[in-house]
Amino acid sequence: MQRRDFLKKAAAGSIAAGTALGASTAAHAKAEFKWKMVTTWPKNFPGLGTGANNLAGLITEMSGGRLTVKVYGAKELVPAFEVFDAVSSGTAEMGHGAAYYWKGKNEAFQFFSTVPFGLTANEMNGWLYYGGGMELWREAYAPFKVLPAAAGNTSVQMGGWFNKEINSIADLKGLKMRIPGLGGEVLRRLGGTPVNLPGGELFTALSSGTIDATEWVGPYNDLAFGFYKAAKYYYYPGFHEPGTTLEAIINKKAYEKLPADLQAIVMNACKVVNMDMVAEYAARNPGALQTLLNKHKVELRSYPDDVLQQLRMASQEVVAELAKKDAFSAKVYASYQKFLEDTVAFSTVSDQAYLNARAENSA
Ligand code: CA
Repeated sequence: MQRRDFLKKAAAGSIAAGTALGASTAAHAKAEFKWKMVTTWPKNFPGLGTGANNLAGLITEMSGGRLTVKVYGAKELVPAFEVFDAVSSGTAEMGHGAAYYWKGKNEAFQFFSTVPFGLTANEMNGWLYYGGGMELWREAYAPFKVLPAAAGNTSVQMGGWFNKEINSIADLKGLKMRIPGLGGEVLRRLGGTPVNLPGGELFTALSSGTIDATEWVGPYNDLAFGFYKAAKYYYYPGFHEPGTTLEAIINKKAYEKLPADLQAIVMNACKVVNMDMVAEYAARNPGALQTLLNKHKVELRSYPDDVLQQLRMASQEVVAELAKKDAFSAKVYASYQKFLEDTVAFSTVSDQAYLNARAENSA
């Protein structure tokens, strides 16, 4: 090939490439798909609502505006606890919440949010992404024409806010506490009355005495809701939610209308937010706890060892009974439990051993 011919061809090639790029840029500027995302959180609520905002923003940005996602806080389009149905029916193409809110559909859903004394955030991600969890989760939601994705994790939560000390298991008897999912069943087993309320209703319920106690998330979120104004004691650890996975749920039909690149953007944006939220909580919880203790004079309390031991025994019973409800629950339980056992065996010589060593060295 003559040099001149080569240059000519190269120039023609670059013009063709430029045209193609120009055309695709023009296409990117136009929204081909406009989605609504309904959420169980108050609009813009720190960590949770902002996580949903991040997810919508990432999808819109990574798709170059071809797929835009508009976020609605709880009650803006549908109430918090109607998010799943709204996505299932196609009222909204997408939702952000947590699987245990939909346990009325199938109790096995709870495994995909959190299990008392179960997996931590990092371990949940291991189970979901590499341990078979995601496949089971997709199977669980398939009858509802909803696709799930992990899209956030709170890490270990706090035990909750109380106006009396918990010195023995008897102190839980008759206690009316907001505590969702399997943790609520554990409380019921020990004589308490669990109630579930959306986050946005908790402060009023606690201040008015409609409930005696509440858990929510951790210091960063609990500070934002101002629970320190309505309760004296802040208990730890959140045995009931050791690493709650938040979910993005997607209407299957809407997802299938997307070209493959936009589908990949949606799923990978979920993964980014799933990981990013853990980092955000790791950064913000320590300072928020100091503010609660030093500025708002909250009294921090640990559940006594024997209380935790009884909570653990009750938790194992509750989870094992859930496994007996039906064949699908048994299958999810078997997968989860195997992963948990393997993880516990490893974490005792890794994370737990290290954290114990670090705590002793800093004492
Ligand atoms: Ca919680």
